[in-house]
Formats: sequence, structure tokens, C-alpha cells
Amino acid sequence: MSISDLTIKELRDKLESKALSAKEVADFYIDRITKYDKELNSFLTVVDNLKVSGKGPLAGIPIAIKDVIVTKGIRSTGGSKILENYIPPYSATVIKKMDKAGYTLLGKTNCDEFAQGSSNENSAFGPVKNPWEMSRVAGGSSGGSAVAVAADLCHVALGTDTGGSIRMPAGWCGVVGIKPTYGRVSRYGVMAMASSLDQVGVFARRVDDTREVLSVIEGKDSLDCTSSTRATGDMRVDSLEGVRVGVPEEYFAEGLDLEVEGVIRDGINTMKELGAEVKEISLPYSKYALATYYIIMPAEVSSNMGRYDGIRYGESEIQNSKFKIQNLEEIYKINRSEFLGEEVKRRIMLGTYVLSAGYYDQYYARAQKVRRLIRQDFEKAFKQVDVIAGPVAPTPAFRLGEKTDDPLQMYLSDIYTVPVNLAGLPALSVPAGFTKDNLPVGMHLIGKWWEDNKLLDIAEHFEIATEHYKKKPTL
Ligand code: GLN
Repeated sequence: MSISDLTIKELRDKLESKALSAKEVADFYIDRITKYDKELNSFLTVVDNLKVSGKGPLAGIPIAIKDVIVTKGIRSTGGSKILENYIPPYSATVIKKMDKAGYTLLGKTNCDEFAQGSSNENSAFGPVKNPWEMSRVAGGSSGGSAVAVAADLCHVALGTDTGGSIRMPAGWCGVVGIKPTYGRVSRYGVMAMASSLDQVGVFARRVDDTREVLSVIEGKDSLDCTSSTRATGDMRVDSLEGVRVGVPEEYFAEGLDLEVEGVIRDGINTMKELGAEVKEISLPYSKYALATYYIIMPAEVSSNMGRYDGIRYGESEIQNSKFKIQNLEEIYKINRSEFLGEEVKRRIMLGTYVLSAGYYDQYYARAQKVRRLIRQDFEKAFKQVDVIAGPVAPTPAFRLGEKTDDPLQMYLSDIYTVPVNLAGLPALSVPAGFTKDNLPVGMHLIGKWWEDNKLLDIAEHFEIATEHYKKKPTL
């Protein structure tokens, strides 16, 4: 058994009994990064002098961090040219908490620029490759974190999920990825994309490892007023016996790849065989979710991107004589034109448009109303079921370059994941099987607000019964 096959609990036992040293564990991953990451491109920065001497529940556990989460003294680019050389003077709350818990920071992972994308092809530092087939995308925006776990380049990884950025790459790379209930984890020190949707979460090979890390990073933080003291419930679900699983008809409609549908239907049958009660449900407003998300999200993006002006921080052309900058507006224009990527620019423009006088009511205010209706759909559904199951994405991982020229096609990949963020619910992707071409398919399980732990238990019963985690990509 390799180090990467152990759960955090098993690894902790071995470290405590000195059967393994923290240095051996870290070296195992560093060696693999050296060997495989040139091609995969999942890390943007690998830490030089690894700190392996921590104490606490995560002592000696090597963890990779999505590059939109700031780490004191360690370069944090957010996947953007404008922060290519940015060394933060402080750490995000989640980082401080993991530090206290003794974790080993392995490095910072590649992602779409400021988490904006579905395939990791919007990174200023090149795309991440899917370890199951190198010609395919990893999924985005936390593609580096998903691949680092899938290829055994780290034990667990943190990502962020604004519209699916943890669940979707987890599904396409065959690992577990959870986005907790909005407010469970502090966003302080996370480069903001769309603040009412952003949430930090965890990637791991095993469900239990995500539970371990979440219990360290969760909780109220005075530096993030949307973080909550609400507990996530310790009611344990001992088996799938009697668990009510809702299957929304809208998640199996046109556009869903037949092979993906087959794998998910099989997975739902497995849950049934394990005792779950499967019910058809309806989420009628979900057909508006993508349109609603692509109004609210860019509106918030356009405000949040305002800080990247090349003055307070960020790369700047102020000194470049080529530009002969005359005034403040020119500084903004030149720096942003030079250092921001196409997709980020597109969203700033779309967002500014939907917020502008005359259009605000027609777009932004209306989208907020629809957001409310989407949430109400879920409120109704959760009166009848404990968990909602469906595909995490409509297709398996597509080929690199296949959708880069067509943003609308790209956005369609987010169709099943964005309703969850609009409603603030906890949700995860757990490996459900493979296509004929050996590409992983993820099962999307959505829980009720603050029932994250129940959701994890349900996913774990499925995981233990199906054992898809045992199959790994050959590198
Ligand atoms: N793919 C979605 C987008 O491009 C979600 C991104 C995310 O969750 N950070 O906006």
C-alpha cells in the first residue's frame, strides 16, 4: 500500500507510532511532483523549504492550496499575470487554521484566472492536463487541486467553488470534492470572485479526509461577516437504509451525455440496493439557473476586480516608457489591458453592463428575484428528501481547446452546479464510475443547508460500497 492510499486517520496513526516520518511523507509527494508535474502543470509554486514539524490533527499531512487563497510569504497569483509576482503579507483564515493544526503546505495549485472558468484553460500559466487522458481538460476552475489529488501529488487540496469549481473538476478527475454550506468556511484571504457565491472546500481521494480537513477550517471568523457559528450537524447516518434520495427530472433532460446518464442512473440504483428510497422530484426553476448565475456572478466579479489596478498591488506598466501614461484612467486601462485575460475582461464588461443605470432592473434586480425562486425550489424539495442526486456535469472531460472559442458552450458545463451556489447549499462530487473510454464520472449529491455532515455520511456509504477510489490513472 502506498502512502497516498492511506486516509488521514491511518496516516496520523503511522506518524504517531513513528512507522513513518513526516519527512518521508512529504518526500513521497515531492518526488512525484518532480516526476509528473512538468506535464500535468497542476502546481504553480512548490514550496522550497517544507515545514514538516507541525503538531495537531493535520500534523505531517501534505496539502496543496488553490492559488486564489493567499499564503503569507508564498507567491499567490490567482492564476493571473497581474499577480505573477505577488507575495502576500498575510494568510487567509483557512491557512492560519491549518497551520495551527500542523499541516504541511506543499504548494499552490493552478486554476483559471481568479477562479473564472470551467476547464482551467483561462489560467495565465497554461492549462492543467487531465491525468486520465492528457489531451483532455482537468475541469475548472480548481483544476490544479483536483489533478494534484487524482495524480497523488498531494494528500488533500483546498479549492474554491463559486459555481462548481470544486465539484466539476473533482468529477472529471475521479476524486471527491465538496463545497460546504455558504458561510461554513471563512472567505477571508480568498481572492474574491463573486462574494455571495464563493466558498472554500476540499478535494481528497476519500470522503473521510474531506471531513477531517473541513472540521479544521470551518467556523465563524470575525474577518468574514458571512461566516456562521451554525453547526453542521452531528446526526450520523448509519446506512443508506431509508435515506430519501431525490432525483430531479430537470437534471436528466436534453444535453446530458448518454454514457454519463448511464453511470449516474447505475449509481442511483446502487443507492437503492443499499436501502435508499429513490423519489422523482422537480426543480422547475433550475432551467433559469445558468442565465441567473451568468448575470449575478459577473456583476459581483466586475466590482471585485476593481482592486486590480496595478497601483495598490499587481503588476504595473507605470514605469514603462512605451506607454507615456498621462492620467489615472490611462493607468487603469493600460495595466488591465496588459495583465488581465480575455475571460476576466469579458466578465468585467458584462457585469458593468448589467449593473448600469437603465439596465439594472432589467437584469440584475430580476436575476435576484429568480435566485429567490431557485432557492424556494430546493426548500420544497428538501421537505420530501434528504439528499438530491444527479450528474455533476453534462459530459465527461472534453478535449483541450475544444470549447475555448465558444464561451456559451463552456458555460453550459456549469448547468448542474450553479443552482447550488445560488441557493447556498452544501454539495459534493463522489466518483461514480467510468465511461467506455475510461474517463471518470462524478455523482453530484446536494444536501440541505447546514446538513454537510449528513451529506458526507451518505456519500461515504456510496463510496465504501462502490470502491471507485481504488482505480487510479496510469501516468
Ligand atoms: N465555471 C464557473 C464559472 O466560470 C464556476 C467558477 C467557479 O466556481 N469559481 O464561473
